[in-house]
Amino acid sequence: MAIETLNPATGELIKKFEAHTAEEVKHKIDLAEEAFQSWRNSSFEERAKHMEKQADILENEAEKYGRIISLEMGKPLKSAIAEVKKCATVCRYYAENAASFMADEEIASGASRSLISYEPLGVVLAIMPWNFPFWQVYRFLAPALMAGNVGLLKHASNVPQCALAIEEIVRHAGFPDNVFQSLLIGSKEVDAVIGHPHVKAVTLTGSELAGSKVAEKAGQEIKKTVLELGGSDAFIVLDDADLEQAAEMAVKSRMVNTGQSCIAAKRFIVVESIADDFLQRFKQKMQALKTGNPLEEDIDYGPMARKDLAEELEKQVQDSVKHGAEIVLDGGREGNSNAYFKPMILKNVKPGMPAYEEEMFGPVAAVMIVKDEEEAIRVANDSRYGLGGAVWTKDRARGLRVAKRVETGAMFVNAMVASSPEMPFGGIKKSGYGRELSYLGIREFVNQKSIWID
Ligand code: NDP
Repeated sequence: MAIETLNPATGELIKKFEAHTAEEVKHKIDLAEEAFQSWRNSSFEERAKHMEKQADILENEAEKYGRIISLEMGKPLKSAIAEVKKCATVCRYYAENAASFMADEEIASGASRSLISYEPLGVVLAIMPWNFPFWQVYRFLAPALMAGNVGLLKHASNVPQCALAIEEIVRHAGFPDNVFQSLLIGSKEVDAVIGHPHVKAVTLTGSELAGSKVAEKAGQEIKKTVLELGGSDAFIVLDDADLEQAAEMAVKSRMVNTGQSCIAAKRFIVVESIADDFLQRFKQKMQALKTGNPLEEDIDYGPMARKDLAEELEKQVQDSVKHGAEIVLDGGREGNSNAYFKPMILKNVKPGMPAYEEEMFGPVAAVMIVKDEEEAIRVANDSRYGLGGAVWTKDRARGLRVAKRVETGAMFVNAMVASSPEMPFGGIKKSGYGRELSYLGIREFVNQKSIWID
């Protein structure tokens, strides 16, 4: 893919970027390693000072950076601004807590003293996607730098200005040179970066295919990976749910980021006794959403991030309908020329259909009607993915019981799935492995060293 800004709302090519050459990439890796050798010895106070400054910049200049996000990947400006501000929260969270998360841990053993010492690994490569082009990067960047690591970012090829903007913010926050650099490279150049001896670990957020390729190369090199891949989150509506609230949140959770979120609700598993009532409310609220240019005020969703992603989603819908899925709310693409995709609801979604088996990364809801709670859990677990999920019931104890039986990295009871700095984030099954955020996230890329003193 070319490294370029192509406005998905208009199809206009705004700017093309020259990729870094292999020599330039090697030089940047050397600079990163050099930066690591002093950054690893910096105090937590110093790191936190820059991280707090970075949070201030993100808050104060949220609109400027939000515009870049909207322009490159089509998110409504108000959501883009909210995303930039959210990045400030993860910076502050790790600025405040990294010292305690990384503190020596005394362990009772047969030694006169034994402890776990948490030490940085070095240069970590982050391969990131376009859907939350700031947030995905910051949830890596904040813990990585606070731990004493340094970062190299290979961002998605359609968001180069976001990549460069983040580099600029890090610089303006006063971090030492080269603790965080963007590599403008295509995915074919990634193997060479993983293979470089200075690069110690890799994190990737993106598709299953990209994750398996990166993990394969990292495996050959015996380098640690964290993978945050797709999801097909279940949104379970039980018979005792508050249907008005559930329907409202169903729309929000399916349509977040024009449906392009790994933790968006994708499979709506609804108990039959309340299915008609729920579907009617869901459809009516979905129909009320407004679309337009991402820079307009008062729109609910924009175009998808790329035309090819809209085409791919259209194919998944057509294939599902061909195999018997029923259209409850019609939408989709108007013509073939752009990346806009109107929301759709499908029901009668069955095994074998793309809407059942695959991730639908856009504004299409797949509804499955089930007999009872037991069948809801079985259908929720009948997925190759295991990222998040939600269950709606007025009985919290019942909600917890269901939450514990769904095979995912996170479950929410009467709330939509979302990430927040203090809670671990990540999946099981084909959704990946490892955790971001919380104290678990900062410990992924550190040497958890045992020290035994006799
Ligand atoms: P990709 O997984 O292809 O892209 C994500 C990142 O991985 C980009 O930086 C991309 O670079 C890079 N990448 C892709 N292939 C490789 C490779 N073989 N080696 C190294 N790096 C690689 O996502 P797409 O943009 O193509 O989106 C396709 C689908 O991926 C979506 O429909 C969705 O299902 C899923 N996805 C999931 C996301 C999530 O949040 N979990 C986020 C985005 C997508 P480049 O852009 O240069 O190709």
